[in-house]
Amino acid sequence: MMAKRSRANRRTDTGWLDHLVNVEDRIHRQQEWLKSHGQPLVTFTVKIPNNIDNTALSHTIFDQGIEALYNACTERDWTVTTRQILYKPTGPEAIFVIDTPSASLLKAAMIKIEHSHKLGQLMDLNVTDTDGHTISRAGCQMPRRKCLVCGRDKDIFDHSHHHGLKEHISKVKEIASSV
Ligand SMILES: [Zn+2]
Repeated sequence: MMAKRSRANRRTDTGWLDHLVNVEDRIHRQQEWLKSHGQPLVTFTVKIPNNIDNTALSHTIFDQGIEALYNACTERDWTVTTRQILYKPTGPEAIFVIDTPSASLLKAAMIKIEHSHKLGQLMDLNVTDTDGHTISRAGCQMPRRKCLVCGRDKDIFDHSHHHGLKEHISKVKEIASSV
């Protein structure tokens, strides 16, 4: 445990194992909350390259995303039943339990943030319904997200579609500089 913590403190050493542990933690928490609250969840992470995780930039995106989520709920008379915010070596993440009549409407509201907020392209707001299923964009008749760098449709089967980390980081910084 101590070994892990000291490793986690070194920001540049956030490797695939940390991400794997992180995902397992998150799935466990999601399942517990679905059982105890019986309401849809939003899992929020910041979409920036690993090696700039936990910088002031990722916290700015994160804080603004949380604010946007609360505003979206207030506008629709939904309430945040509970939430957990974690600042992890892999970047900040939050899980919200939302008292809403519909997970699909919740997904549509989150997509709206991803599209309309000035930092929305750098936010990942995933919705899980009360049965534990992730609500997809297709399920809401919404198009897939575009590639952050070139704006093309992102096809996971298109292995030729790669951009270098440098290109990715400079695009993230360009979006962030608009704030
Ligand atoms: Zn691209």
